[in-house]
Amino acid sequence: MNILVINCGSSSLKYQLIDMKEETVLAKGLVERIGIEGSRIKHDTTGKERVTIEEPMKDHKRALELVLNAILDKNYGAISSLDEIAAIGHRILHGGEDFVQPALITNEVIEAIRKNIVLAPLHNPAGLMGIEACRDLMPDTPMVVVFDTAFHQTMPAENYIYPIPYEYYEKYKIRRYGFHGTSHKYVSLRAAEILNKDIKNLNIVTCHLGNGSSIAAVKGGKCIDTSMGLTPLEGLPMGTRSGDIDPAIIPFIMDKEGITTSAEINDFLNKKSGVLGISGISSDFRDLEDAAEAGNERAKLALNIFCNGVRKYVAAYAAQMGSIDVLVFTAGIGENSSYVRERSCKGLECLGLIIDHELNDVRGKEAILSKNIVGPTIMVIPTNEELMIARDTLDIVNNR
Ligand code: ADP
Repeated sequence: MNILVINCGSSSLKYQLIDMKEETVLAKGLVERIGIEGSRIKHDTTGKERVTIEEPMKDHKRALELVLNAILDKNYGAISSLDEIAAIGHRILHGGEDFVQPALITNEVIEAIRKNIVLAPLHNPAGLMGIEACRDLMPDTPMVVVFDTAFHQTMPAENYIYPIPYEYYEKYKIRRYGFHGTSHKYVSLRAAEILNKDIKNLNIVTCHLGNGSSIAAVKGGKCIDTSMGLTPLEGLPMGTRSGDIDPAIIPFIMDKEGITTSAEINDFLNKKSGVLGISGISSDFRDLEDAAEAGNERAKLALNIFCNGVRKYVAAYAAQMGSIDVLVFTAGIGENSSYVRERSCKGLECLGLIIDHELNDVRGKEAILSKNIVGPTIMVIPTNEELMIARDTLDIVNNR
């Protein structure tokens, strides 16, 4: 049974066609510049050479049409009929409080996604465009929506209510939602699987460290806290996002710099802060590690601030869960940077988390980084959000 996974941005569309029998990727690709001059698809069918399709794509529907053509193409395609696609899984950023798990797409579900546009004004409309395009082109294929926020909906109120007037929660649903839920779910399940333990008995801290970074406390398979909040701006310092700061800094800077609009504030907090803001060099950790090695003090400072942030959240979440059995690193930085992993774990020996220097010399593959036989295990697990979406989709479709 094949599942097509779709992840739409405002001008992009990522896709993967996965054969669920062996959980293998049959084809995948990326459409860029939808609705802009220079639209193109980079399409890869497993075992065949990559093709780049350059053709105008005025909207997501046209993009999807060309993606389906590519998947069906006699020379570089992966299947011969659309009937071979059993279901479609869509990634949507924000499910608000309406979705605690993935859902079969119906008119009511689409309405609820629309309702949550206010919480994700850039992302949810793009996701809806993908859903509409699929509905037009493959009206009889069942579709499932998987939310980035859903995995975190098990958090208790004490971890999602902000200490501001309660009426803002009631009026506007301002609360912690958390993001990267599909990734936190995938790596926590995979950790239990690798360790051959029942996830119900494990306290896991998952660190998704990429361009955007978040950490989650997963107790018995359920998320009880996570570092991102109402938006993906809260928590760790990130590539260009500030993460946690004293909120009083905002009115202070507004006064000093004569800033008057929320758009300008959003811009500096989302695009000019984080490790880019501190270092003045780059948001990419490879550049920062190179610069730090060459003696650049601000690059070192940016890395130290990031690793301090990781350490603080891991320790706080271990305390919230009462203990820690597994610490998982994933995503671009978590999977690749032995530097960040080692420095983030410095001091966590007090919780029994002892990273081994040699074992930590690993990149982009599943590995155990701790040697101790008793006590918690430190792991690298490459994330696979597409596979998690495909599994969730299959699950929902099979249990309709
Ligand atoms: P996104 O949030 O866009 O999905 P990724 O999870 O792909 O991000 O992470 C991208 C980031 O991973 C890059 O910006 C870079 O900082 C970091 N990264 C990738 N490879 C390495 C590496 N070898 N060493 C250190 N950092 C890396």
